[in-house]
Amino acid sequence: MYRSLLIAVLACVSASTWADSVLIENVRIFNGVDATLTQGHVLVEGGLIAKVSSAAIDVDDDTQVIDGANRVLSPGFIDLHVHLTSHVPYDQIDAHGTVVGAVANDVARHFLDSGFTTVRDAGGTHPDLARAIELGTVYGPRVFPSGAVLSQTGGHGDWRHSSVPNPTLRGSNPYIHSDQAVIVDGVDQHLAAVRENLRFGATQIKIMGGGGVMSDYDPIHSLQPSPEEIRAAVQAAGDFGTYVLAHAYTSEAVRRLIDNGVRCIEHGLLIDDATAKIVKKNDVVISTQLVVYRALKDLPGITETNLAKLAVVLKGQENLIRLIKKYDITTGFATDLIGGMYPMLTREFTERAMYWTPAEVLAQATSESAKVIRMAGRLNRHGNFGEIREGWVADLLLINGEPMQDISVLRDPEKNLALIMKGGEIVKNQTGT
Ligand SMILES: [Zn+2]
Repeated sequence: MYRSLLIAVLACVSASTWADSVLIENVRIFNGVDATLTQGHVLVEGGLIAKVSSAAIDVDDDTQVIDGANRVLSPGFIDLHVHLTSHVPYDQIDAHGTVVGAVANDVARHFLDSGFTTVRDAGGTHPDLARAIELGTVYGPRVFPSGAVLSQTGGHGDWRHSSVPNPTLRGSNPYIHSDQAVIVDGVDQHLAAVRENLRFGATQIKIMGGGGVMSDYDPIHSLQPSPEEIRAAVQAAGDFGTYVLAHAYTSEAVRRLIDNGVRCIEHGLLIDDATAKIVKKNDVVISTQLVVYRALKDLPGITETNLAKLAVVLKGQENLIRLIKKYDITTGFATDLIGGMYPMLTREFTERAMYWTPAEVLAQATSESAKVIRMAGRLNRHGNFGEIREGWVADLLLINGEPMQDISVLRDPEKNLALIMKGGEIVKNQTGT
């Protein structure tokens, strides 16, 4: 009974927010994969792409018709490494959850208004926020939440001040900083934390798999957690049909994570050639980021320790990009902006264009990232997205200018995104039609 009630409620929400039928005429289509644009028309019905055609599409009077005016039509963008709830200023990290949530509201708005129709939250965002966005309570992109990040005591997600004792040793709440991280040690605690995240609605699990920049007590070279603990997290995620993504920089950390079943590495800046080969052989993803590493040094509140660690990992960035290209490693598009840096989001496009063609960057930000997100398997309740194909979710952008020649047009979404459609819902239309 509850289930049918829920379906009825969702159906009401859907009817009120979707234009039932929209025809976008006269566009040049970037389908998410191919570098060549094709001239055509796209019909959207019930939130899905119903028809893609080079010939005119006949529609009835009830269909809203948008004149694309020969603009480029792209799938909505996807960011694989977002922290919606990590944008209170870094020097106010202890702010109450109400502040964290209020700021997250602005962050979510900024992402969707910048053309990002889907994001994978790489830890910290409670799945309830993803649900609130889905129900229309909060404006923002579709979110694939990871829930609280799993960190061992003294790991990259253990953000306690040095004087604060481990809460679990006193039998109290293992969740810290607005439930953005959970401190876990031992196989049992890893199993329990993963299962708890999945119960809340996480679609994948994030673990801290080695030393990190923005934490003060774990050296970059540190290995986190033990092989048994990694296997426990992977097992519990796998039992729900999904996967584990892990923060890591070094070859040693990445190899340990892959050996124990992790499918997606976050960052990876210090891996060597032999490790890149192992990554490719195991079909593992390296989701890495560019702009954040160049901008972090100016973040208010960053410590001397953080800066020293930043210098170490930044040295590996160019080499990692070379290895990703050399072995054709799946990478997608990811930003990892934190501490209020989210307005830099679209700078990631132009940073990447220093290494990849605009068409390659656009494919990273659409079809390639979508493939990574769909590793959530049956926990993906949203169907197929990230490409312009019949039957796929209608996440669509109309772009002013020539992004395939000059990707910098995406730096100014307010001016250059003429249309933003998320799941068939028009959230912005400046086409004048
Ligand atoms: Zn991150």
